[in-house]
This record gives sequence, structure tokens and C-alpha cells, in this order.
Amino acid sequence: MLTAGGDSNIRIYQGLEMVKIISFDMDGTLISPEFTDWVWSHGIPTLYAEKSGIPFEVSKAFVEGEYRKVGEGAIEWYDIKYWFRFFQLGTHWQNLMERYVDKIIVYPDVDHVLARLKDRFPLILTSNAGREFIDIELKATGLAIYFDHIFSATSDFGEVKKTISFYQRICQILGANPREIVHVGDHTEFDYLVPRKLGICTYYLDRSGRQKGDFVIHDLTELEKRLLPINEEED
Ligand SMILES: [Mg+2]
Repeated sequence: MLTAGGDSNIRIYQGLEMVKIISFDMDGTLISPEFTDWVWSHGIPTLYAEKSGIPFEVSKAFVEGEYRKVGEGAIEWYDIKYWFRFFQLGTHWQNLMERYVDKIIVYPDVDHVLARLKDRFPLILTSNAGREFIDIELKATGLAIYFDHIFSATSDFGEVKKTISFYQRICQILGANPREIVHVGDHTEFDYLVPRKLGICTYYLDRSGRQKGDFVIHDLTELEKRLLPINEEED
């Protein structure tokens, strides 16, 4: 169970009158994460197998071993251009991403909820993904129209994950107090616990439905129900 960190916080957060901005994670929150898996675990190993004349499975084991040596704590981990250089795959990384564009799938609740919330709040996207992934995913899904600002922790701020300083910088850029922001995402640490330490009201999105708690939601319609009733009388 995810706890809210004290009754006083519950009262503050459930009185959402202060909320001015809604922030969304991207992969696993708005868009299913399969696309990135296909690019990293199928696309790049396929290109490397073709280049080296080795079987796909051998290539995949080698490529994923090289990923692990770098590790997700390094900025290169997220940088497809780096990996194209590293494996000497040429420069057509965009073509590789385009190959898997049919794997970019928006969750069914997303368009409706973003359209409704956008009428009431500025919406922002806050992602760990590199700008190359954000751009193609938003282009393929048409979701860019909903967002006033789009932030990539890795591409814009050189941070490998969403840290407290990442969220602080976003508040500074937006001129917003953390308590004026609601953030929702599918990672318990980066989307729920870290921004909550700063005073941002966070909701953990558990699409599996297994987690329970005051600030756990299972789809975005639950977020809409929590945010809109205090701003407009529901019919
Ligand atoms: Mg996510």
C-alpha cells in the first residue's frame, strides 16, 4: 500500500483547489511501453546481426550485454544516437524507430481524459525518455496538442532519471509552487515518491489494478474524477 505521508497532507492534497498544472509521465502512463522495448531489444540487435553476419540471438545477447555495461545510471543508456555510433550502425536511427511506429499505442482512456482536463488546466509532459523517443511517440499518437510544455529529464536537463532537482527545475521554469502541481505516472519512485518529497501532489498509476491506496489510481478516468468535481459541478 502506498501511503500519503500523513493526515495533514491528505487534507491539503484532497483539497485540490490549489492545483494549477497537471503533469503526466509518458511511457506506461499515456503510451504503452512496448515501442521502446522493440527499438532496443529487437531493432538494434537486428541491425547489428545484419551488419556482423551473426544470428539474431547472438547479436541480441551481445547488444544487451553492452547496454548493461553502461547501465541505466549513465546518460548514454538513453541515447539512441550514442548506440548507433557505438555499434557502428550508420546514422539512420530515425528509420529504425519508424520501423516500429505501429508499436506505439495509446491507452484507451487517454484522449478523453486529456481533452477534458485541458479545458481546465495547463497540461505538461515530464518524461525520462530521450527527446527522440518523445518526438516520435507524440507524433504517432497526436498527443502533443494537449501539452503546454514537454520536458525530457535526459535530453533537456542531462539527468538520467526524474530527481527532486528535475522537478524543482520544472517548477522554476513554470513559475509554479510544487503544491500547485499534480503529477501522475506509473513508476513508484520517479513519479510518486520523488516529486511528493518536493510537495507535488502525486498519483501512482497502477494499470494492473493490484495496488491500493489514497493516491493510487488504476486508469486516468479516476484522476479526472478527483480533479474535476471541485472545479466544475458535475452533471
Ligand atoms: Mg513511465
